[in-house]
Amino acid sequence: MANQRGKLIVISGPSGAGKSTVVFKALEGRDDVCFSVSATTRKPRPGEVDGKEYFFVDLDRFREMVANDEFLEHAEYVANSYGTPRAYVEKKLNEGMNVLLDIEVQGALQVHQKMPEAVMVFIIPPSMAELEKRLRSRGTDSERKIEARLMRAREEYAAADFYDYIIINDDADKAANEFSAIITAEYCKYDLRKNYLREVD
Ligand code: 5GP
Repeated sequence: MANQRGKLIVISGPSGAGKSTVVFKALEGRDDVCFSVSATTRKPRPGEVDGKEYFFVDLDRFREMVANDEFLEHAEYVANSYGTPRAYVEKKLNEGMNVLLDIEVQGALQVHQKMPEAVMVFIIPPSMAELEKRLRSRGTDSERKIEARLMRAREEYAAADFYDYIIINDDADKAANEFSAIITAEYCKYDLRKNYLREVD
């Protein structure tokens, strides 16, 4: 269906949920979903490339983008600003491509309010204890940072009632299959396919 507008798919989940691995595995081999690259004021981590993981911008540029209404949504997360550039998302959706946003809960809520048709997916580890274990086993964060991330996760859980789907990531392959199945199921919705029914007249 060439002229069908693409679907906007939003995935969120606490730091330590294994979100990036699951997204990567789910999108491997699918050419029907493209990833929206966000702008952020966070400094690049080793190995991150401008324009690939993020567009790395300074605070002045970020504020200018906000003032010019260039973001579909934007939010602060752990003292840095993040935003989804609107133009790319709109262009791809209009071309019929599905677009994936990996964003935190406040931004996801803004998207849900502006575009209620967006598919909202929340990914979590099997338990808070498991989340804590995963955060500790990374060995990269101070005790204070781990506590802050756990607190943030509890806040996100409490605010997550507008999501359509929950993926419990106890196994990355299984979780990736579930995510892929959600994307596929969204294609098969009655409203998207009902014009096929007319062909039997
Ligand atoms: P990180 O700094 O670890 O890459 O990302 C921190 C958090 O920011 C993650 O939960 C990620 O999903 C979220 N994030 C990344 N890009 C955006 C964005 O454009 N908007 C919002 N609201 N959150 C984002």
